[in-house]
Amino acid sequence: MRVDVISIFPSYFDGLALSLLGKARESGILDLRVHDLRDWTSDRHRTVDDTPYGGGAGMVMKPEPWAQALDELTRESGAARPTIIFPSPAGEVFRQATARDLAEREHIIIGCGRYEGIDERVFEYAATLGEVRLVSLGDYVLNGGEVAAMAMIEAIGRLIPGVVGNPESLVEESHEDGLLEYPSYTKPSAWRERAVPDVLLSGNHAAIASWRREQQLERTRTRRPDLLSD
Ligand code: SAM
Repeated sequence: MRVDVISIFPSYFDGLALSLLGKARESGILDLRVHDLRDWTSDRHRTVDDTPYGGGAGMVMKPEPWAQALDELTRESGAARPTIIFPSPAGEVFRQATARDLAEREHIIIGCGRYEGIDERVFEYAATLGEVRLVSLGDYVLNGGEVAAMAMIEAIGRLIPGVVGNPESLVEESHEDGLLEYPSYTKPSAWRERAVPDVLLSGNHAAIASWRREQQLERTRTRRPDLLSD
């Protein structure tokens, strides 16, 4: 999968050289390219923002550098129609199902907004080049799209076959079947007067599976009842 990220702070993404995604990049499973939006400006100050029409606080990202960036990246990749994601607090909420859906794509472009956001016409223009998705990390406001983009890249990236060594570990995770994951324990079996539940030491696989299922349901009921009513 190819992922192009456009940002005015490309060094945010340096951390994606680490761990499983770093390995996926090295092996070529994930072709992640991070670009500086200012490379598509044409003035001496490499300006990417301007005052909002109609007045109001803050600055808005200018359309032209975005159009130049999107034109170049869509032309260059050769993928039929890329998926173009704009992180936005006003978008659909990013969920595990969104990650699963996006993990199937050949080419994703992520455009990270800053300031008060991006000139609205950029989204319309982008829709002529690919499938546009405005995606929110949650119901709060960040300073920019970079942290949201990193979260999405990690959640999508770990679903690409070959990124996580044991694919079974993906199946048992929170949100994979609409429930939260069961509690996990490791050695020692007794620690600071707290014991690991007996069933996990029993070797009885059916009993363990049933206990884990009950724990998943109980946790989801108490911590995230909204998941059960979805
Ligand atoms: N004025 C915008 C609004 O009220 O919807 C918020 C702009 S925010 C300060 C700047 C940028 O941060 C946005 O363009 C978006 O890229 C990113 N951002 C902020 N909150 C986000 C969230 N919850 N999910 C995804 N991206 C977010």
